[in-house]
Amino acid sequence: MKKIIIIGGGFAGLSALSVFCRCKSRDFEITLINEKDKASFLPMLPDCLGRGVAPEYLLFDLAGLSAKKHFNFIMDKVSGINLEKKEVIASKVNLNYDFLIIASGSETNFYGNSQLRDCSFKLDNAQDAGLMRGALDNYDCFLIFGAGYTGIEVATNLRIYLEKRKIDKRIVIIERSAAMLGPLAQWMKDYVSDNLKRLNIEVLLNSSLDKVEGSKIRLTGGATFDNSMLIWTAGVKTSDFIQNLNVEKNPQGRIKVDEYLRVNNTCFAAGDAAYFSRNNIFLRMAVQFAIAQGNCCAKNIIRSAQGKRFIKFKPVDLGLIIPMANNRAAGRILGVNMKGFLPVFFHYLMCIYRSYSLRNKLGIIKDLTGINA
Ligand SMILES: Cc1cc2nc3c(=O)[nH]c(=O)nc-3n(C[C@H](O)[C@H](O)[C@H](O)COP(=O)(O)OP(=O)(O)OC[C@H]3O[C@@H](n4cnc5c(N)ncnc54)[C@H](O)[C@@H]3O)c2cc1C
Repeated sequence: MKKIIIIGGGFAGLSALSVFCRCKSRDFEITLINEKDKASFLPMLPDCLGRGVAPEYLLFDLAGLSAKKHFNFIMDKVSGINLEKKEVIASKVNLNYDFLIIASGSETNFYGNSQLRDCSFKLDNAQDAGLMRGALDNYDCFLIFGAGYTGIEVATNLRIYLEKRKIDKRIVIIERSAAMLGPLAQWMKDYVSDNLKRLNIEVLLNSSLDKVEGSKIRLTGGATFDNSMLIWTAGVKTSDFIQNLNVEKNPQGRIKVDEYLRVNNTCFAAGDAAYFSRNNIFLRMAVQFAIAQGNCCAKNIIRSAQGKRFIKFKPVDLGLIIPMANNRAAGRILGVNMKGFLPVFFHYLMCIYRSYSLRNKLGIIKDLTGINA
């Protein structure tokens, strides 16, 4: 009986798990380790703010799944891996494996600044979304650091939250570089920028955080904001145990994997934790790649156990969408540029399709449409 450990019960981990559960030969003992007892459906966390989606509908019970699908579930935080000894070290247990899948995703990067971490709101899981939503009414101004997808989604959701309550407060996105949305096409940046203006969301480029004193926030350049909520969406990194692992990584700590998603012959990585390149183009962090990679890792482990050759991971990019809460989005879907409502529709269609269970799907539909399912 081969011992297989999956670290992380998100998109990649659960995708791998479903391959093992479907496998006819059950010569595997599967153990899933996740630091929380529930998985969070990350793409809709900003919707908990503006669209009023209940965080509970973005949570999926991993312990319940383990009872149904007959695998071991351990709620614990992995703190280290010994690749030579084939051992996973967590706070309560140490486990040996024959094959390992690292699918621990990514988390907000506070760049080692614990004071910043303590006074910021972030969006790493459904609990964070609930905390943020519960605190919104305490502030007069919202400062969002980082003009990437998440920062823009959060800002537009905040505006819709305030509009629904007929309240006008300042919402400011602060970006350290000279442009929003990094390497995306200029037409997408222009569309997003116009929409932010329409929603009265300010964007400060070439600016960053200087000092925080309670709820008073000062930016480099001197601008000061009183009673402000500090929302940090300025970068992600992988889990600490990966940062400490002695393998090749990119600056975010994603592990470089080969064409079969291997770290070595018995360890694989998938999703945000993996840094995969094809023709020198590295895959961005996205649900579609996490699911496909989890699937490929599991298939390769099964093939390896059966003495068969590995299959290469061949990513198919369905596209990307930047959804904004006033039902406008910019996107490129199956090679076609789209803006307006259509990409918003595709985004939520995909979210409902990919959400974990029927309960999650019905809850999301109910909250998005206001219809009681
Ligand atoms: C706010 C937000 C919006 C997003 N919107 C989109 C979108 O619209 N479309 C899109 O394609 N992508 C989107 N993404 C990115 C997408 O969610 C990720 O690429 C995807 O979740 C990666 O899947 P994963 O399985 O690698 O990691 P995750 O889904 O993050 O799962 C990782 C799991 O590992 C667990 N874990 C982490 N560290 C440890 C540890 N040390 N020990 C044990 N368990 C651990 C975590 O608790 C988590 O359950 C968004 C992300 C965020 C944060």
